[in-house]
Amino acid sequence: MSAPPTVRTVAELRGRVAEWRSAGERVALVPTMGALHAGHITLLDVARVHADRVVASIFVNPTQFAPHEDFDRYPRDEATDADKLAAGACDLLYAPAAAEMYPEGDATRVTVSAVSEPLEGAFRPHFFAGVATVVAKLLIQAQADVAVFGEKDYQQLLVIRRMVRDLAIPTQIVGGPIVREPDGLALSSRNAYLSPAERATAVTLNAALRALAQDARSGRPLDEAETAARDALLAAGFGPVDYVEVRRADDLARFDGAGDGPCRALGAAWLGRTRLIDNVAV
Ligand code: AMP
Repeated sequence: MSAPPTVRTVAELRGRVAEWRSAGERVALVPTMGALHAGHITLLDVARVHADRVVASIFVNPTQFAPHEDFDRYPRDEATDADKLAAGACDLLYAPAAAEMYPEGDATRVTVSAVSEPLEGAFRPHFFAGVATVVAKLLIQAQADVAVFGEKDYQQLLVIRRMVRDLAIPTQIVGGPIVREPDGLALSSRNAYLSPAERATAVTLNAALRALAQDARSGRPLDEAETAARDALLAAGFGPVDYVEVRRADDLARFDGAGDGPCRALGAAWLGRTRLIDNVAV
């Protein structure tokens, strides 16, 4: 497969999508920030199950980074990404410039309360308003039937589902499975920041979350199990640990006992200058 055609404006994007939809084809959108890996490619495959045409977007969204975060050093390589999209059978790449996403005088932000407040929201207070705003823009711009987001960013998926329901955006939101390295580390564009020693330590995040999930299933008191998971991360060389907790899967409220339905173990922790997140079903 050759690299998909690239469009950079809303008008071009809508033109392509309108052609497909008028021919009766269903269209899926897979939003990304580039630095593509097998996790992103899996989302394209999921999209293909739900649609005839698949659009990937690449946009490193400035509004979801705080000034002290890694916006400037976030990996950007559109040519390599386009080659990966060719292998992933994508029909169109939408790669807008910042001025297309945030036109001169842009003054609108989308905020989602409740589900965006704990966990990531507590440690990155700017983050979900940036995500909700850019995803709302992308969904309205693309007018796709379906959009696919990874469970890797589990809270983000819930925030987007809430936003789409509340704003009646007519796009079906589909979650895609977490793709991992053989040792369990979730693939992430940010893994490229890790030194070899940090990469060896990184595996502990998934191991600690799996142990926490197992403890929760077996009825160990949660405070104790969460403390053990935190201690395991610190002992392995992580630090600080932002959170490592069991929450209800549908709204991320605190998990209070067996009657609470499905839950999720979620964690975020630092390795040197790199912040890693992961989650597992309980
Ligand atoms: P990003 O480019 O990191 O902003 O992620 C774009 C999309 O890919 C989001 O929906 C992420 O949840 C998803 N994603 C990132 N890493 C993975 C992974 N390891 N497995 C599955 N989906 C992922």
